[in-house]
Amino acid sequence: MESIQIKTVDPVSQELLKSAYQRGLKLSWDRFERLQPQDGFLRTGLSCPYGCLQGPCRIDPFGRGAERGLCGLDRDGMVAALLLRLALSGALEAMPEDKPISEPSWASSLKAAFSQAFKNLGGDRVSSGEIQSAADLLNRPMESAGNMITQALRLALLTIGWLSKGPAFRGQRKTLPLRVGYGLLAEKEVNIAICGRPSFEFLKALLSEVQKNFSGSGQVLSLGEFISLGGSYLPVVCTSGESELVLSSGKINLLVAGLGTDPSLIELCHTLNIPAASSMDPKSIRDLLPKAKEKKNLTIQIGFSPPSSLVEEAEVAVASSVLEAYFKKASAKKLIFLGGADHPYHPLGWIPTEIAPVLQGKGFAVTGWGDCGLWKVKKGLASPKKKRPVQVLDGRQWPVLALKALAVSGRLKDVKGICYTGVKSCQDLATALGLASLGLRVGMAVPLPLWGSEKVRNLLHDKLAAMGGSLTHFDHPARAEEILDWFLK
Ligand code: SF4
Repeated sequence: MESIQIKTVDPVSQELLKSAYQRGLKLSWDRFERLQPQDGFLRTGLSCPYGCLQGPCRIDPFGRGAERGLCGLDRDGMVAALLLRLALSGALEAMPEDKPISEPSWASSLKAAFSQAFKNLGGDRVSSGEIQSAADLLNRPMESAGNMITQALRLALLTIGWLSKGPAFRGQRKTLPLRVGYGLLAEKEVNIAICGRPSFEFLKALLSEVQKNFSGSGQVLSLGEFISLGGSYLPVVCTSGESELVLSSGKINLLVAGLGTDPSLIELCHTLNIPAASSMDPKSIRDLLPKAKEKKNLTIQIGFSPPSSLVEEAEVAVASSVLEAYFKKASAKKLIFLGGADHPYHPLGWIPTEIAPVLQGKGFAVTGWGDCGLWKVKKGLASPKKKRPVQVLDGRQWPVLALKALAVSGRLKDVKGICYTGVKSCQDLATALGLASLGLRVGMAVPLPLWGSEKVRNLLHDKLAAMGGSLTHFDHPARAEEILDWFLK
């Protein structure tokens, strides 16, 4: 219990966490603790990732056990193959849903940066064919670690090229308003929470039914996702790492689970008797809403009543021109990007709320995305009332928008650093590698599975350095001071 402060920096989250513990609820922090120590082979990249059923083969990170896999694969080949496997998954996650095997594209202002990267990685372009090449390489060990890393970087550029083809924001607005905070739970009687990514059609139908059924006394809230609809974002009650706490608060009447929802959230709903349903079937909406009206289970009536003042606001940039104007105000080498996902490695909110104000105080223009961006909004750092607010970007489209704005305004060289507080998906890792391949300085506050091979780390470093970029990562969860030092170096 005394360690609650090292789990999250938000006092309201701490209160909810304490209450959840008193009621015997098991949340993500408990699961994280029970998972320790995490698999040392996988953490260091020494668990074979090939599509081969002669294994599983693992190489002892300390050199006291197996030094090679059954086929003779050594640690360098194994770690490089894992990097390639992760980059392949990242590219597949970014593949455009409507045109899966279409060719990548990017803003014309980025052509020079991409051409430079292609030259260093061989050839004059990347194409959807990178997927097949990577799959072939991951069939059975036959390629050098260096070539595997090159292919991983080609996939990283493909990832950015495919993200650029994603659905752009359609509409006249250049920014969309976003409201974030626990105070949202006090605004209406009926709260319907959404997690993951439901379809646009489902959301539209849900909002219209909520309007009909609750005539102003019900609302739809997002748990940690940026979900735009009708000229604004759905209000976000918490970051993704706090979702279980919100469910445990007794203030949620119904959970709608979109694509990417963690199983733990559905299970917690079952434990707490909160109706939960999948967003896969738009026709199910009519059956869902009566469930939200049902009397809630008394076991979760914990008397939690957050003050309605706990809501902060921000304007999220959805047009490149807004970012260009934002960058224009910053001096040379004063652009900082700090974003990414929550992870129980760190107290939630620690890095963003500790570092961003210091960097702003030193004259840096700070841009954030994902959970990290939401933490900055919660802290009031992105408030339009501030003289120099932090700029917040949508969690999914941020790299495309940022790259375009940097290239158009000629400010790529002025990026001091791009740091991920956490990575949730392979797409995040592939994007980070892609940004580094385009000559940017990228950092990770969480360990990457590359520590099993010094050779792979050196090869990756050298390849990125040849393109003017870098990827700094630690063999431990980095402390806020380490990230600050990295930015200021
Ligand atoms: S590819 Fe080699 S190291 Fe990997 S599982 Fe197969 S035999 Fe083992």
